[in-house]
Amino acid sequence: MTVERPNEKRRPRVVIIGAGFAGLKAARTLANREVDVTIVDRNNYHKFQPLLYQVATAGLEPDEIAQNVRSLFRRAKNVRFHLGTVEAIDHDRHEVSTHDGCRLGYDYLIVAAGTVSTFFGIEGAEEHSFPMKNVPEAVRLRNHVLRQFERYDKDPRARQGGRLNFVIVGGGPTGVEMAGALVELFDILQRDYKDIDTSKARVILVEMLDQLLPGQHPDLGEYAKKVLERRGVQVCLETAVERVTDTEVHLKGGETIPTRTMVWGAGVKADPLAEALGVELAGGGRIPVRDDLSLPDHPEVFAAGDITAAEGADKKMYPQLAAVANQQGEHAAKQILRRIEGGETEAFRYRDYGTMATIGRNAAVGEFPGGIRVKGFIAWLMWVGLHVAMLAGFRNRMNVFINYAINYLTYDRNARLIFDMIPVPEEVPMEVEEVDEEITQSLEEIADRNE
Ligand SMILES: Cc1cc2nc3c(=O)[nH]c(=O)nc-3n(C[C@H](O)[C@H](O)[C@H](O)COP(=O)(O)OP(=O)(O)OC[C@H]3O[C@@H](n4cnc5c(N)ncnc54)[C@H](O)[C@@H]3O)c2cc1C
Repeated sequence: MTVERPNEKRRPRVVIIGAGFAGLKAARTLANREVDVTIVDRNNYHKFQPLLYQVATAGLEPDEIAQNVRSLFRRAKNVRFHLGTVEAIDHDRHEVSTHDGCRLGYDYLIVAAGTVSTFFGIEGAEEHSFPMKNVPEAVRLRNHVLRQFERYDKDPRARQGGRLNFVIVGGGPTGVEMAGALVELFDILQRDYKDIDTSKARVILVEMLDQLLPGQHPDLGEYAKKVLERRGVQVCLETAVERVTDTEVHLKGGETIPTRTMVWGAGVKADPLAEALGVELAGGGRIPVRDDLSLPDHPEVFAAGDITAAEGADKKMYPQLAAVANQQGEHAAKQILRRIEGGETEAFRYRDYGTMATIGRNAAVGEFPGGIRVKGFIAWLMWVGLHVAMLAGFRNRMNVFINYAINYLTYDRNARLIFDMIPVPEEVPMEVEEVDEEITQSLEEIADRNE
């Protein structure tokens, strides 16, 4: 089925694939201009990925970090939304096709489909881990974490077999934020569970490199490590995962951590939609583009955000960050307007305003151009302000701000809800051997290696 939108004025048609940071910014730049825009996304909402970990750790509800795309463009008469998963791109016919057989024609196309998790071929990792790339995955993780405590409350033997060991793989911002938020959640849960000791739960953060937050200055990585360790997280640096089963994480050093929860924060690759363009892809499956973000042989097709292999002056690909995606989305849209007006396109240059990561309550780090670094409470306040300001939709900004304030003042988290669609069969507690000693031994061995 070919979907024809009303286009009486015969204005150029722009299709944007993806309502993430890049796609949304592109659409905002084209809103109320002399073009007809269709945003296509497999979800009818824009999600704020940097706060997914808050959903997974019961700090925020999903609708506080996601916003319906149609509602965001109510006032833009020339912007439409199409729900669907794009599966094919036909350069000759200038059409994209979605999973349900719809075809959308375009004069200009912006591909902004982002990334998916990658597991680097580690045996069992995809099958047995909890990635955190989208809202359903974050909710699934929250359900699972809270369920471990429900089991423990019914039968203290549930602590054995690693059910209260939460392993996080990847010491980048996602892993650090998740680790900090999980240990805080365990403290809060103690008030709910009168008969069990929630401090028995452990968070183990595993990073292959020799510092946390590898993209940042080593001082900030060291600070993050100290804060996390002080709060009870076991940080294992220079530690790689070799194999994962449903009950254990096997490390390359030979140690084994019994666990039922491995959170995957270790890597992403470009969305497989990049392959539909029929061009040779760059590292990580990213789309190579000219300096104006258009494809070398297809000047009418642009790529923006995490899926793009655009390079900076240092010939390195830009980092996969929300700020880069925002700026690229805006740039691609502006180049389309230039083309339509008969002008020359311009090269994309990223304006780096710095990066930040939070470690938990009152602690964050930030690094800014000119070698400026901040850490601690001030950095945390900056992080909160920045993330609230960046959220899509006024209501979400207000809700998250109020929620943060209440959680901060009351040391509480309201979203401790298990939303399983299908009741999970209760496991019969196993008569397991006393594994606690074994876990402690494994972790001590890793700690010794780290020294
Ligand atoms: C857990 C996590 C934490 C992060 N924290 C930070 C942070 O603190 N700071 C920071 O700067 N960055 C952070 N990032 C990275 C940041 O979220 C990304 O750089 C940013 O989202 C990239 O924007 P994008 O528009 O390229 O892609 P996305 O935001 O991923 O959007 C892509 C969109 O395309 C849609 N899509 C994909 N394939 C198709 C298809 N075939 N058909 C239709 N629609 C499709 C998806 O549904 C999605 O809506 C984080 C990422 C994650 C996963």
